[in-house]
Amino acid sequence: MKIIFACVWLVISLSAFSQNPQTPQPKLVVGIVVDQMRQEYLYRFSDKYSEGGFKRLMSGGFELKNAHYNYAPTVTGPGHASVFTGTTPAIHGIIGNEWYDKNLRKHVNCVGDPQHRQIGAEPEKLSASPWRLLASTITDELRLATQKRGKVVGVALKDRGAILPAGHTPTGAYWFHSESGRFITSTYYAKSLPEWVTRFNQQNLPEKYLSGEWKTFFPIERYVESGTDDTPYETKFEGKDKTVFPYNLKELRKKNGELELLVSTPFADDLLTEFAKATIAGEALGTDAWTDFLTVSFSAPDIIGHAFGPNAVEVADTYVRLDRNIEDLLKYLDENVGRDQYLVFLTADHGVADVAQYLTDNRIPAGYFNAANVKSRMNEFLKDYFPGKEIVEAIESHQIFLNHGAFQPDPKGAGVDFLVATELVTNFLLAEEGVANAFPESVLRQSDFNEGGIKGQLTRGYHPKRSGDIIIALEPGWYSGSRVQGTTHGSPYTYDTHVPVLFYGAGIPKGSSVLYHRITDIAPTLSLLLNIKLPNGCTGQPIAELFERR
Ligand code: ZN
Ligand code: ZN
Repeated sequence: MKIIFACVWLVISLSAFSQNPQTPQPKLVVGIVVDQMRQEYLYRFSDKYSEGGFKRLMSGGFELKNAHYNYAPTVTGPGHASVFTGTTPAIHGIIGNEWYDKNLRKHVNCVGDPQHRQIGAEPEKLSASPWRLLASTITDELRLATQKRGKVVGVALKDRGAILPAGHTPTGAYWFHSESGRFITSTYYAKSLPEWVTRFNQQNLPEKYLSGEWKTFFPIERYVESGTDDTPYETKFEGKDKTVFPYNLKELRKKNGELELLVSTPFADDLLTEFAKATIAGEALGTDAWTDFLTVSFSAPDIIGHAFGPNAVEVADTYVRLDRNIEDLLKYLDENVGRDQYLVFLTADHGVADVAQYLTDNRIPAGYFNAANVKSRMNEFLKDYFPGKEIVEAIESHQIFLNHGAFQPDPKGAGVDFLVATELVTNFLLAEEGVANAFPESVLRQSDFNEGGIKGQLTRGYHPKRSGDIIIALEPGWYSGSRVQGTTHGSPYTYDTHVPVLFYGAGIPKGSSVLYHRITDIAPTLSLLLNIKLPNGCTGQPIAELFERR
């Protein structure tokens, strides 16, 4: 009897030990990703930020002032995947937002999944899942560590912004379907929308946000950190002849895709903030002993940033308004989860380049790389060596995909022909204006993961089975495109790599660090804060300075 009692006691105490960590855990982790935000924006617009948003996270939490993406391409899909897996495209496999699939010989989306359908709008349409993400996320690891008692939900405006952070095993993932103005999911996650999502959609908030005007939050004279409101570097809305405030949304929606206009305004972030709060309530996040995890990705800054460029008043106003969204979300967490009961981190999936024309007008070297033009000239050039064959199949995200079929049907000569073609393409590229360097896959495949410089950035962004056959690095200030209006991101340079990283709340000391950190250091830091396993492909290191202050 005594022995049985002792055994039962041992089993109970062991299970209590393994499931209840020694240190109190946050009830909820909220991972905020701002889609496109340079680190400098924390300071550049700070005189118009409230005390309760970015500044609350900065003064009350731990700030990495020198954190960077350590690979290229610096775009949304890879960015979200890298924050949550703690590794880079070389390992997690998300090499772009879309890429040319070498086996299927067609373009694929990083979260596109032909096995799944949309839930919540047009059910016949194909939908999305994390199946192309090859590594586990910190959110997956929390699910495994808690026997799925800890809930994980991803919410975002873009599908990839919800799906990749939430990982393979979440409670749910929801994104905005701009045609219908509803939040939706896919059959990967559920057979139908939960009732709380349906109720949220029934409020028709997009209609409300598009019924008024977009004016600057403060009088426009205060936006001294931006250029004048009317410049030639900004993209016009259809039906408006100048890029100036105010924007009459009720009028503009008619010629700008009706409800689809919303994501080009900062009010899309208001909508997502309301949805994030509804998620916390609907899923009862942060209400029991098991740590839950909510991921939120704000994409209006990216869509507006692409259209107007970082020097525009429209962009400044978008971050000023996002700051109020963050203040609102933090207040909601204070009231509903409890101050010091939750942990927040905030980062961005990439920065952004200055408008190339704006730079050249200011005598700073920059330019436009016209991929379509390069592709046709390159194919012309290669005809001398490979008569009758179309060698270059696609150029995407600064990667060149060759037509592997062109090197058949001579299996003996194919390897040599392929090497000759990659060498010819590399030399062709090096003669192009704006190209800094070009690396054939044989070089990147053999390169060390920790290699320095631009080659290292490209190596960590290169996946042998998925990436192109030659990878291009443009010169600083250059990007793909030909339009003078608007801008983009994707380079290995600091304007695209340097992003905010802020930790705040339960277990986080006050402080900051100017030491270099990689974006992949966020996930292992969370693992150690939560006392759970590192994501399975993790290559980052915990932020030592943060733990030294605890
Ligand atoms: Zn992005
Ligand atoms: Zn973007």
